[in-house]
Amino acid sequence: MDLLHTQLSNVQRQLAFVSTDPIDWKLYVQAFSWSVTLFESYLLLRQFPLYSKTEPPPALAGHFSPEVFQKSQNYGRDKAKFALVSGLLKQSLDSSMLHFGFYAWSWGASGRLLSVFGYGAEYEILQSIGFVFILFFLSSIPTLPLQVYGTFVLEEKHGFNKTTASLFVTDMLKGWGLAFVLGAPFLAVFLYIFKWAGDRFVPWLMAFMITFQLIMVVVYPTVIQPLFNKLSPLAPGDLRSRIEGLATKLKFPLKHLYEIDGSKRSSHSNAYFFGLPWVCSIPILRCAEVLIEIDKLQSKHIVIFDTLIQQSKPEEVEAVLAHELGHWHYMHPMKMMAVSQLHIFTILALFPAFLHAPPLLLSFDFPKAVSTQPPTIVAFLLFQMILTPLEAVVSIGMNAVSRHFEYEADRFACELQTRLNADEMKDMGDRLGRALVTLHVKNLSTVWVDWLYSAYHHSHPTLTERLRGLDAFKAQAEKKKL
Ligand SMILES: [Zn+2]
Repeated sequence: MDLLHTQLSNVQRQLAFVSTDPIDWKLYVQAFSWSVTLFESYLLLRQFPLYSKTEPPPALAGHFSPEVFQKSQNYGRDKAKFALVSGLLKQSLDSSMLHFGFYAWSWGASGRLLSVFGYGAEYEILQSIGFVFILFFLSSIPTLPLQVYGTFVLEEKHGFNKTTASLFVTDMLKGWGLAFVLGAPFLAVFLYIFKWAGDRFVPWLMAFMITFQLIMVVVYPTVIQPLFNKLSPLAPGDLRSRIEGLATKLKFPLKHLYEIDGSKRSSHSNAYFFGLPWVCSIPILRCAEVLIEIDKLQSKHIVIFDTLIQQSKPEEVEAVLAHELGHWHYMHPMKMMAVSQLHIFTILALFPAFLHAPPLLLSFDFPKAVSTQPPTIVAFLLFQMILTPLEAVVSIGMNAVSRHFEYEADRFACELQTRLNADEMKDMGDRLGRALVTLHVKNLSTVWVDWLYSAYHHSHPTLTERLRGLDAFKAQAEKKKL
């Protein structure tokens, strides 16, 4: 532990200038965040000409009828336009919030609100919670019209939307309620650890974050998900016996097998509900296109989306499941969690330099009185903004790792026949390929993808890449058998 703290203090010494030098951090953040947004816009512009292609890639030619291909091109183009406009709008909004000192104003507003109830500036944790919620509400309201447009205009136009206005509103209110119920205590403990552990907060905070994630793994499928969706046991029949059979052969400790009503909101088979921002870091596997969930740590639940069941044949769903169980077999969720812990550790290790840095707050328009004793939450938030370019690079790295895992899981499905000595699984690779094609067709997913766009945005290989991969894995598996 002491070695850790010595190393961490070395890092701090390197970064000591942050607490003294009057750097114009605001200008840096503006420049960084605009660069990221403009780069993302450039990627979308690279993607545009591909929507004018009149034929699918040769490998997919047999699977897309001309009309369906045209529909998917139109849908892709509309989505890309929407992404371009909403990306630029959101960035303009964030940028003006920065420019006009919105963060400093929100901190003050939270303080004034608390003083109405008789709490002074000494209640930093309370003021911090107020601050985060003011930021959260005021910054989410202007993006509401974008969400409404995305759901009720864009998705509606292409025939996917099933969300009603009342469902949209209740989802939003539940989401906000949940953000408060989970977020407020989380934030309180998070900030308390800083106060309590002082400069030695890193290991304690790491321990707390891991515990929180583990609790969420249990709470998410049992408490949170049922708030938004109905889970019902998968009806007995061909599909159920196939899945149970596969689980038994692979020694997967299956306790609950559910069907979830994803079709309530959208006819996309990859539709997922309104999530919590930090839920993405929980090691629940939400893969192949978010159709099946397997809870890795408990290893007991499998949840299948009704949309997948409606769109595919039982033997194809079984193949998708074989892929998912490949993730389980190779412990991909645990590996991803380990990578994300490393990521969190790096962030926390760099943070102390920014924790007691009056110039940082001054550059974001905080008054002198607040800047001399920076509140932890404010420093942490500003620090996060400074990390924007680093986060963009990290996400490219994470995508690369995730794509590698996808191939590994696809190969696992292709090898099942030899692994399990089960002849009925000899066409698992073909079935998986058919399932992926069907999903792409039903969802009108884009088939022509620019390589740079894909490298930056996609956690999964494109359909053509995956089909090519499946062919190679099938050939390898054949060879092994001989
Ligand atoms: Zn996968």
